[in-house]
Amino acid sequence: MISSPTERIARDTSHAAVYLLNESPEPISPNQALLPLTAKVNAVDHLEVGGCDVPQLLQQFGSPLYILDEHTLRTACRQYKQSFQTHYAGKSLVIYASKAWNCLAVCTLVASEGLGLDVVSGGELHTALKAGVAPEKIYLHGNNKSQSELEMAIASHITIVVDNWLELKTVAALVTAQNTGIQVMLRVTPGIECHTHEYIQTGHLDSKFGFDPEQLDAVFAFIQRQPGVTCTGLHAHIGSQIFELQPHTDLPSVMVGWLLKAKEYGMAIAELDIGGGLGIRYTQSDDPPSIEQWVQTVCQAVTQACKVHGLPLPKLIAEPGRSLIGSACVTAYTVGATKTVPNTRQYVAVDGGMSDNPRPITYQSQYEAIIANRISAPVDSTLTVAGKHCESGDIVIKDIDLPTVVEGDTLVVMSTGAYNYSMSSNYNRVPRPAAVLVHDGNASIILQRETNDDLLRYDSVPGHLLM
Ligand SMILES: *Cc1c(COP(=O)(O)O)cnc(C)c1O
Repeated sequence: MISSPTERIARDTSHAAVYLLNESPEPISPNQALLPLTAKVNAVDHLEVGGCDVPQLLQQFGSPLYILDEHTLRTACRQYKQSFQTHYAGKSLVIYASKAWNCLAVCTLVASEGLGLDVVSGGELHTALKAGVAPEKIYLHGNNKSQSELEMAIASHITIVVDNWLELKTVAALVTAQNTGIQVMLRVTPGIECHTHEYIQTGHLDSKFGFDPEQLDAVFAFIQRQPGVTCTGLHAHIGSQIFELQPHTDLPSVMVGWLLKAKEYGMAIAELDIGGGLGIRYTQSDDPPSIEQWVQTVCQAVTQACKVHGLPLPKLIAEPGRSLIGSACVTAYTVGATKTVPNTRQYVAVDGGMSDNPRPITYQSQYEAIIANRISAPVDSTLTVAGKHCESGDIVIKDIDLPTVVEGDTLVVMSTGAYNYSMSSNYNRVPRPAAVLVHDGNASIILQRETNDDLLRYDSVPGHLLM
């Protein structure tokens, strides 16, 4: 069992060091950890990640800083792959939903573990191709892909996950005109609901994504008349940050129903892509299933549904994003101003906020934090960590128990690997932070810190304003 560190975290909330309990000899599922698996307290009472002293990283690379732990990300990739090998008799492929964090280094690292990549725009596709990811392992998603994105996908021989009629007809026309071919999967809305934030539910029938299952007859009939379009698989994704296993137990039988329909049209569809969505631990009270539990659940459900209908096992594809990279990264900030509202609240402001992590203001997401330069300081205050942006809602964490915090302290927010950098902005013309990859005591830049001049790169002043 791999629950002991999380149980210990849940039991003892009195001390910051409770987060640092990953010294368990048993393998921890990264999505259940609050801090990267290499996190430690070092001899000077500082937080260390990937063998690097976090306050020192800020000295060297500036603040704020995204710190991505190579070991944790690789461990999550391997746990997904190995779990499929253990629990599924057919072929499988894990593809990283790169919208969680898409950049050259992350694409390169994940591909080096043998994973494929899911991309959702021409920009993400360009990055994946530049990172050298094999086109046969790249899948393009999106509910409104542009003509040029589709042309790029066809030219680079990746698989397109077709979302709707307009796209299907556009793709068919393009490959006919170019006298070429394309592999597609079809995204279908499974009509399965799950408990997560409304903005990240995607499986219910009233979703902007995917074909309605009612359309499948017409879609299969259409594809059969397109010699250039090969349908290799069916896809569904029910949402994100999901802790329940039930939706993923239900999904395969729905999808196998679609495979049976394809069979009626004489189409042998050999791949099922069940999407991603496994949640991660952002706070002590979060309790997601492990990667292996999730994989085992979907494998059993697919195997069972195929057995019932006498179908051969499809190649099973999963598309995790958040649960691969979320807990591999922390964001380190420097504390600045503090403000006490008597009898109400004490604010401490950090040098970033909604521009480097828009999740709190977008989804009311919660986070944990520690003071990385005084790990064993007693926890004696309840603070609200505010961002630096001109927006009252720019609050990183509301009401968190921390030691007394002073200007210059290093405040580390945990589990910021997914949908932080990738959703970042330059709001208030704040340059984006740098990101470093840490491993065995070495830190390497993977994203340079933006400069004020970078912010002017696309500015242009019409001549008549210069009079
Ligand atoms: C976002 C997304 C994923 C990944 O979701 P996570 O919750 O990050 O695992 C997978 N597939 C599709 C189609 C997505 O849009």
